[in-house]
Amino acid sequence: MAALLAFPGRYHHAMKPLRIGVLAVQGNFREHIATLRRLGVETVEVRKGSELDGLDGLVIPGGESTTFMRLMRLYGLDEALRAFEQPVFGTCAGMIVLDRNHLGLVDLAVRRNAFGRQLASFETDLEIAGEDEPMRAVFIRAPWVEEVGPGVEVLAEVDGRPVLAREGRFLVAAFHPELTDDTRLHERFIETVREADVVRA
Ligand code: GLN
Repeated sequence: MAALLAFPGRYHHAMKPLRIGVLAVQGNFREHIATLRRLGVETVEVRKGSELDGLDGLVIPGGESTTFMRLMRLYGLDEALRAFEQPVFGTCAGMIVLDRNHLGLVDLAVRRNAFGRQLASFETDLEIAGEDEPMRAVFIRAPWVEEVGPGVEVLAEVDGRPVLAREGRFLVAAFHPELTDDTRLHERFIETVREADVVRA
C-alpha cells in the first residue's frame, strides 16, 4: 500500500472498475458471476476467443472438463486462452483444463474424480494458508492434484492431497467456492487481478 500511495496516479488507476470474464460454455458460471458481482466487479460471459479481449481476469468454472475441452476447441477458446496474459481462477473442471495434460498453463497434474465413488461429493472445513478461519468447501466429483511443479504454491490439502494452489497469476481450486457464501477466494483472486492491473499501467 505504501508503494501505491507514493504514486497517486497509479493508485487511482488501480481502483478503476475491473472487468472479469467467466467462461460460460457450460457448467457453474452463473454462480461465479453472482459472487463477483456481489464483490463489485463487472462480469462478462465468455463463449468465444475474441470475448477475452480487454478483460482484466478470467474465471473457469466447474462443469465437465471433457465438454469444456471440446467446446473450447470448437470456439477457438483454447488458443485464445493460451494467449491471454491476465490472472485466471480455475475451479474444479476449471482446474483440470489448466493442468499439464490439458491446456498446459499451470505446472501441475490433476487426477479427475479422484475422491472415488464413496466420497464422490462432500463438504469439509478446509484450512487455507494465510487464512485464520477455515473455509467450508464443497467438493463435487472433484479432482485432486497429483503432481506439482517447483513454482506451484500449495494452499490447502485434503488427506495430504493438494486441493488449492497458486502459480503466479493462476489460482486453482478442486472445490466450488462459488457455491457457498464465503467469498474469500474470489476476493484473493480480485486482489491478484488488481495487482496485475497496476503492473500493466
Ligand atoms: N468430474 C468433473 C470432471 O472431471 C469435474 C466436476 C466439477 O467440476 N464439479 O470434469
